[in-house]
Amino acid sequence: MSVVKHWVNGAEFAGASTRTAPVYNPATGEAQRQVALATTADVDHAVQAAKAAFPGWSNTSIAKRQQIMFAFREGLNARKDELAAILTNEHGKVLSDAGGEIARGLEVVELACSIPQLMKGEFSENVSTGVDVYSIKQALGVVGIISPFNFPAMVPLWFFPLAIAAGNTVVLKPSEKDPSAAIWMAQLFKESGLPDGVFNVVNGDKESVDALLEHPDVASISFVGSTPIAKYIYETASKHGKRVQALGGAKNHMLVLPDADLDLVADSAVNAGFGSAGERCMAISVVVAVEPVADALIEKIQARMSGLKVGDGTRNCDMGPLITREHRDKVASYLEVAEQDGASIVVDGRGIEVDGDANGFWLGPTLIDKVPTSSKVYTEEIFGPVLSVVRVKSYDEGLALINGSQYGNGTAIFTNDGGAARRFQNEVTVGMVGINVPIPVPVGYYSFGGWKNSLFGDAKAYGTQAIPFFTREKAITSRWLDPSHGGINLGFPQN
Ligand code: NAD
Repeated sequence: MSVVKHWVNGAEFAGASTRTAPVYNPATGEAQRQVALATTADVDHAVQAAKAAFPGWSNTSIAKRQQIMFAFREGLNARKDELAAILTNEHGKVLSDAGGEIARGLEVVELACSIPQLMKGEFSENVSTGVDVYSIKQALGVVGIISPFNFPAMVPLWFFPLAIAAGNTVVLKPSEKDPSAAIWMAQLFKESGLPDGVFNVVNGDKESVDALLEHPDVASISFVGSTPIAKYIYETASKHGKRVQALGGAKNHMLVLPDADLDLVADSAVNAGFGSAGERCMAISVVVAVEPVADALIEKIQARMSGLKVGDGTRNCDMGPLITREHRDKVASYLEVAEQDGASIVVDGRGIEVDGDANGFWLGPTLIDKVPTSSKVYTEEIFGPVLSVVRVKSYDEGLALINGSQYGNGTAIFTNDGGAARRFQNEVTVGMVGINVPIPVPVGYYSFGGWKNSLFGDAKAYGTQAIPFFTREKAITSRWLDPSHGGINLGFPQN
């Protein structure tokens, strides 16, 4: 069986580890290859390569860095079908959805192409007579990126193009469940003219993550994954003196007011609940229906669910399998919890007929009504194709529910009342808000990130917050020879 290795200094690197993990095709249940799990020494080797590449890369002209970004953008766009096939093969998401993931990642590459504009500093002439002050932005050094399984291309693309365009060098640790996309992108970047050592990939598990978090030559960590790990990353990397942004899990609510267009709501709930088998941090997992709409809405959602085709992502299906057998079993176990807690299962995804291998990690779209808010089905992130409905009596009751959640990643309101929508955008304690838009992932030139336990640290991903995160500002006060200068003054400098 082939082994997915690491990528260091512009070439595959086998590393010294003898530990590997299986990489499945979730649609067949087969382990199709292994992935190497890096040791601490393997990670150090990658960090040293990145460190050695940093002086040359950070002093490469902005124009040259921009040209390489443009070449990478062209290559990625031209060869996106190849990458989409890799995503479907290892993650399981259907091909059209894999294409969508790449399109959203490309947006960030396109933003990175505008790096000359993004890196501009400020200049003030004559702050005192003959004295000018200006600021410059300089790259941090070696930056670490740790990404989750559910977007093996897009989440790394949220970070590495902007980090590299800004002059940093990178060590990326992708999810060990679907590692091939990262290696493919690293190879493409080299073919686009990126010097060796600027972008490195180490595959691995906790050992490699800890090695990055503790490494003295790693300046910052950008993490995306589940909340308990995000918190651990934030605390550990901060303790080791690093700048950290750690994006965590989610439980996204869709608030439906009685005046909403219920056909639009039903379409949106199905798309946002079951797309990518619910394995999206911006998936809608709870529909909060303000009565009296629940019965009519559930009927419409159910009708749409009956038309969904579940199966192998290469066969034109709507929804693919879950990532692993263990994860599928965990997600399915919430249906038993729902039954025990007195919720009513309207559509049961267990035992669904699929267009695919019987051994794949399947669970069909599932709809659960009257979910008690004390149930784990409501309080925990399920991360699968399970949509819960909670019925409330008023906007205020719905808002209190959303604001009471430990998560604050995304949310949406569906209404035709502009005043209610405006009130919601002001009152809700969530980082990304949709108004009649179910998955409000901001475009590349805004920034992505939640509030509360959905983000630890103070910088969101990509957009306007990326360059401040990936650079340090330096303020320079300068005076050029002037016959009037000089004299002794021990006081604090004043203008
Ligand atoms: P995960 O937390 O299990 O893993 C994320 C990364 O951390 C992986 O690279 C993994 O190897 C590493 N890791 C796992 N356990 C670790 C440990 N004990 N110590 C150190 N490193 C460890 O997450 P996942 O299952 O890959 O991804 C799904 C989760 O990611 C969901 O909770 C989802 O909501 C979240 N997510 C959040 C966002 C966001 O932007 N907020 C985006 C995508 C996914």
